[in-house]
Amino acid sequence: MEQTLSIIKPDAVERNLIQNIKDIFTKNNLKIKESKKIKISKDEAAEFYKVHQSKPFYNDLCTYLSSGPIVVMILEGENAVLANRKIMGATNPKDAEENTIRKLYGISIDKNSVHGSDSIDNAKKEIDFFFDL
Ligand code: ADP
Ligand code: MG
Repeated sequence: MEQTLSIIKPDAVERNLIQNIKDIFTKNNLKIKESKKIKISKDEAAEFYKVHQSKPFYNDLCTYLSSGPIVVMILEGENAVLANRKIMGATNPKDAEENTIRKLYGISIDKNSVHGSDSIDNAKKEIDFFFDL
């Protein structure tokens, strides 16, 4: 069964949306295999997001992900990577489809409530980054 990594970002944790977001995954047949609430350092965020290091928003992105508690989860299900991306919605909540997490809860392109791996390969890397299983 395919697995992917999901993160509930600081803006959503801060607004007590953890359970609402978990319920959306579960309703959409993604099982939450592991879940932990953590706070990461800016250096860890920089490592996690290093694919974006050349982007103009990289520094703000790393500051943001390390600004408060986050919830990191391993989701499991059929086509979990793509399924999660569909449930999350577009990067910019303004462009996200109805009933996606980002449409429901995202505030802006940077405070968009969730992260999800974009490929099976990156899912493996991102799961290894946060979980020592
Ligand atoms: P996604 O999270 O949908 O996979 P990306 O991988 O392209 O999107 O970007 C990673 C994160 O960087 C986004 O979730 C968002 O928080 C932030 N981001 C992306 N594009 C911008 C932008 N133009 N301005 C500010 N932040 C951005
Ligand atoms: Mg991405």
